[in-house]
Amino acid sequence: MIFKSRMLITILLLMGIGFVIVAVSSIEIAKESRLKSLTEQELPLILENAQLNIEKTLLRPQVIASVMSNDIFLHDWIENGSKNINKITDYLSQIKKEDDLYTAFVVLDSNHQYFHGKGILSIWPERWVKDNWYFRLKNSAKSSEVNLGRNLDKNKMIFFINHKIINAQNKLIGIAGVGLNINKIITKLKIYSNEYGKYAYLLNTKGELVLSQKEGDTLLHEQRNEALKRFALQSLGGNKKLFTYHTSGTEYLVAMHYLKRLNLILCIDLPVKNVTNPMVRSIIITAIVGCFLLCFILYLIFKMMNIYQSRLEDAAWYDQLTGLLNRRFFIEKYIKEDERHLRSQRDMMLFMVDIDSFKDVNDRLGHICGDAVLVRCAKIMHETMRLTDVISRWGGEEFMLLLPETSLKKSITVAQRLKDLIAKDAKLIALTKKGITISIGLYPYCAGETMDWHLEMVDKNLYKAKKAGRNCIMY
Ligand code: GH3
Ligand code: MG
Ligand code: MG
Repeated sequence: MIFKSRMLITILLLMGIGFVIVAVSSIEIAKESRLKSLTEQELPLILENAQLNIEKTLLRPQVIASVMSNDIFLHDWIENGSKNINKITDYLSQIKKEDDLYTAFVVLDSNHQYFHGKGILSIWPERWVKDNWYFRLKNSAKSSEVNLGRNLDKNKMIFFINHKIINAQNKLIGIAGVGLNINKIITKLKIYSNEYGKYAYLLNTKGELVLSQKEGDTLLHEQRNEALKRFALQSLGGNKKLFTYHTSGTEYLVAMHYLKRLNLILCIDLPVKNVTNPMVRSIIITAIVGCFLLCFILYLIFKMMNIYQSRLEDAAWYDQLTGLLNRRFFIEKYIKEDERHLRSQRDMMLFMVDIDSFKDVNDRLGHICGDAVLVRCAKIMHETMRLTDVISRWGGEEFMLLLPETSLKKSITVAQRLKDLIAKDAKLIALTKKGITISIGLYPYCAGETMDWHLEMVDKNLYKAKKAGRNCIMY
């Protein structure tokens, strides 16, 4: 038993260690391959997709600004002295309405007047000088420019797409442009934030936050800013697009892509643990469930082993027919009782019981009936004797009994009672018609004598009982 429980503990320990090793190495391998697929496939794809999506959103306003700058109506109106203001405001408000733009405008190079859908912008010159976007584009070789700025009351960020108006003499006569509400871009950025806590935003070339999926979300950026500034510079020049950084004890992965036309850097970042944790959790759950299942299977195997072992033990120690102990077990028991008797010095008795003329039962009624007689006699003995008495089938129709702590006087009474019970048993009478009698040889245990000597003595007394005409007790 101790051996078995030790074996069980060893197997469980080995299994536990095995499971931990397998789980830990699977976690490491799975983490590595998950990050590899994230950095090599998913993030570059997402980044490319986001870039296309944002550029697509800006494409139509860019086309509109370009068409405006080449529009003959606009050229004629400017070249003819820009007299009819209603004409131009109608034109601009029509464009704004049709394409759901924030604004559509024209700036004249001759007097720096700014026209939009509602008329001329009166406060324009000061802001203009300050912002300087007009002169920047006028003096640049580029025909158009996209920039991000605030509207006049400064509470809204607008994407402005400005296009030079060049006349037939190749002279700049103004700049036409449209403004696009940044919400349209924010909506696009939000698409990329639905999984793993991804966070999409735009940085300027200095690495400062320009626009994020959540307006006014600057707190997050303050913590990340230093790292992002470094990466922004690197992403502008080289091919490197993926960076990792730590903030508040969390590791982040950021993918950056420079959008040339917007002069902004598109970034998508996410905490690494958001990608790896669900996977780690599922591996741990699988390992725990697997461990429990294996423990349960192991438990069943040991349970079955116990059942088979006890069956084997039963077959080795018990008589198949009567269910009594067999001779082998009796000898074992005798040795134990012998040792105990030496210590306690109390009385002990040996009974040898033999069914009288049993051969005659077999001959008259057959072996099956003979077996039934043996089973019934065994049952009576079992019910009559004490729990501490050892009752065994010695062989054939002979039984050997060992009665610890029993005096000779007491044992004669017990033997008499047993003999009477068998002789008067209704079932035995019904089985055999005549009934069954037994002869019993008794012998008290004598300290210092061997088992063989005792067995011989008790056998001699049984023989005497047979000689005396059977159905009697000899001691
Ligand atoms: P005695 O009164 O002198 O003891 O005579 P007996 O006929 O009882 O003794 P004997 O030794 O001549 O015969 C014993 C018989 O018991 C012989 C054997 O066939 C039968 N026997 C032994 N084992 C079994 C058993 O398991 N089942 C059955 N039915 N008979 C058995
Ligand atoms: Mg016999
Ligand atoms: Mg007999």
